[in-house]
Amino acid sequence: MNSRVLPSVCPLDCPDTCAVQITVDDDGRMLKLDGDRQHPITRGFACVKMARYPQRQEHAERLTVPLRRVGPKGSGQFEEISWDAALTIVADRVQQNVAQYGEQSVLPYSYAGTMGLIERDHPLAFFRALGASELDWTICAATGGAGWEANYGPDKLSTPPEDVLHSRLIILWGINVLRSNSHLVPILKEARKAGAYILHIDPYRNETSRFADEHWQVAVGSDAALALAIGGELLRRGLEDRDYLAAHANDMEDYRDACSEWPLERAAVFGGVPVERLNLLVEKLGQTRETFIKVGYGMTRNEGGGNAMRAVTLLPALLGSWKHLGGGAALSTSGAFPLNKSRYAGAHLLKPNRRLVNQNQFGQALALEGSDRLSTLFVFNSNPAAVAPDSAAVRRGLAREDLFTVVLEHFQTDTADYADVLLPATTFVEHPDLYTAYGHYYLQWAEAIIPPRGQSRPNSWIFHRLAERLGLEHEVLKMSTEQLAQELLSSDHPFMQGITFERLRRERSIRLNLPDDFRAYANGSHFADRKIRFSPSPRQIEFEEQPSSEFPLRLISPPGAFVLNTSMGNIEELLRAAGGEPTVLVHPDDASVVGIDDGQRARIVSATGSIIRKVIVTSDARQGVMIAVGQWWPKLAPDKRSLNDLTSQRLTDLGGGSLFGNAVVRLEPLVA
Ligand code: SF4
Repeated sequence: MNSRVLPSVCPLDCPDTCAVQITVDDDGRMLKLDGDRQHPITRGFACVKMARYPQRQEHAERLTVPLRRVGPKGSGQFEEISWDAALTIVADRVQQNVAQYGEQSVLPYSYAGTMGLIERDHPLAFFRALGASELDWTICAATGGAGWEANYGPDKLSTPPEDVLHSRLIILWGINVLRSNSHLVPILKEARKAGAYILHIDPYRNETSRFADEHWQVAVGSDAALALAIGGELLRRGLEDRDYLAAHANDMEDYRDACSEWPLERAAVFGGVPVERLNLLVEKLGQTRETFIKVGYGMTRNEGGGNAMRAVTLLPALLGSWKHLGGGAALSTSGAFPLNKSRYAGAHLLKPNRRLVNQNQFGQALALEGSDRLSTLFVFNSNPAAVAPDSAAVRRGLAREDLFTVVLEHFQTDTADYADVLLPATTFVEHPDLYTAYGHYYLQWAEAIIPPRGQSRPNSWIFHRLAERLGLEHEVLKMSTEQLAQELLSSDHPFMQGITFERLRRERSIRLNLPDDFRAYANGSHFADRKIRFSPSPRQIEFEEQPSSEFPLRLISPPGAFVLNTSMGNIEELLRAAGGEPTVLVHPDDASVVGIDDGQRARIVSATGSIIRKVIVTSDARQGVMIAVGQWWPKLAPDKRSLNDLTSQRLTDLGGGSLFGNAVVRLEPLVA
């Protein structure tokens, strides 16, 4: 049998946005997925998860036909119906519910299940034309983004990954780059060969800690204190870049005060880092102009997460690192893509005073009563029964008989089990799309290269048909993916000069037209006055939720090597490689206190709920910290519960983000 190799783009929510090469046989079956060798960031390799994508694409359990619920809500019992019948049921029910309960009783729940701009964002135009409630996308990047933008203004930029080659001191702060930003690793290796020193700061000792030259296994939530202590010591020793600060800092006074609360000795005890190491780092920072800090979102998933992001990312400004090739920091490059976004997601159709539902309080939203009650829910590109905080509240809401729920999916996930109508969606190789990135500066285009499996359809196709049936007469709701992409690319911003849809379609991947020597914040911030906001200063926030005798362990949930979010959560080979069932890592001292041995299952209890997980006893977890590695499909866990049965709907200090790294828990042996 012949095969062909066709180009595409990885759609997962990952900073690397890899260009991929897909081997397809004559029958349109996906045989293999590799990284594109020609792409300067992808450099010929895909990660361990996406390398298994052919198993997902060809999975026997792919949804291939529209389905209607026949059993009790949540039972996952469906019967096949035609597309015509499915669209009629959905359109009729939306019409009835809008007439009876108002348009704001309709809520779309979606997120980054695909990062293609059209299939991710264009459906929002349908809901905006309808006048539905809006979902505030706060589950992942909101707090980190809010922290960054509080310092540097809108439109986040980063040191280009290619320039990290020139860094001489690299701090990987709160990120397992070997898993979550793996295409930075070859660059880190080259930088190290050229003399760079690499420090990893993370409560979880993982692959990146072993790769780095030094690892600090810090206390969860101590990042702001450590960063302020380092900042204070740099100031005390006169190692700050005074010229840069004079030109670009707004006012240092409040920042100096905040730093003075954290002498190195105090921060060392609080953060669990030997004071000598802190001292040495301050010395190195003072000597190294090309300092680069890669920050992860992990540090932001707690009550002080926004302040932590602010405190850490002020350090490159304090040092003037932004001026130097290889200096600066990286959270996200997403603000660099100046596309014409005026219409594709329906921004122009947004009606005033729409209700905004915080995604992290989805359980509460589903329980609203009276005139606020939600009548209709659409879920696409997400799996909230698994990933939304306080899963028990979410399950209660999804089980409401009076809530009409439509789910667009590839598989029958835990969320899909609650659908009234379940619609088969296409995968990234079955529809075209346009991709920006948040870990580099390349725009990419991917064609549909494999015919849709069964009767699956793109999200955009589904919402266009529903718009037609509901009589929503807006031009944007009739535009093809190619037309939408063309409009998105019609921008006269200098970064977009010479980048047309035709060219992108031909070349597939084009780097934005950044200046040759691009130094993101060398000339200050993106605020109108170009000043970086040191004051009011970030602070180390005292958490309300503290470890206690009842709940002595802090739970965090970083991505795992094989399982991270739920997108690849039913690929057997990955699940086997991840140990066959969800696990938590616990320090030997914490396990022995409650008499739990390595490999035993145990109950984990928080104030919100309880679950059962297998315990791995290891000092990779800091004492007092429990690490749940990756998010499993609840239905594939031994107790059919989500890790988020343990997390709460409370919000972070900035950006309304999730508290996934905040819950305090206890470990209990299972009663025989
Ligand atoms: S590293 Fe990220 S972008 Fe690349 S293939 Fe894996 S998930 Fe996709």
